[in-house]
Amino acid sequence: MTESERALQSVRCERHGLRYDPRAHDGCAACRRESGAAAGGAAADVDRTPAQRSLVGALVVTAILLLLTTAGLTLLHETVAQQLRARIPGLQREAPAESPLTSAQ
Ligand SMILES: [Zn+2]
Repeated sequence: MTESERALQSVRCERHGLRYDPRAHDGCAACRRESGAAAGGAAADVDRTPAQRSLVGALVVTAILLLLTTAGLTLLHETVAQQLRARIPGLQREAPAESPLTSAQ
């Protein structure tokens, strides 16, 4: 089937202005999408589109990575700070008493 033959057999949707083959489909792509969403009923309105779902997944992964990075850096900072307090005597006196290392000594 050539392009011109296909154009002759296609029909333009009155609502959306899109061309479709009336023998293959009941309506244009927009009509079919709307009817599919209507058939889904209220659940289709509540459900997110795949794009939104993947966006939510990416945001969750980003949040987890941020939390892990923050926890790791906090732990690293605390470890380095404790080692510095242990090695440099002057820092122990100036360090706040809340540190378990200085309160133990
Ligand atoms: Zn249409």
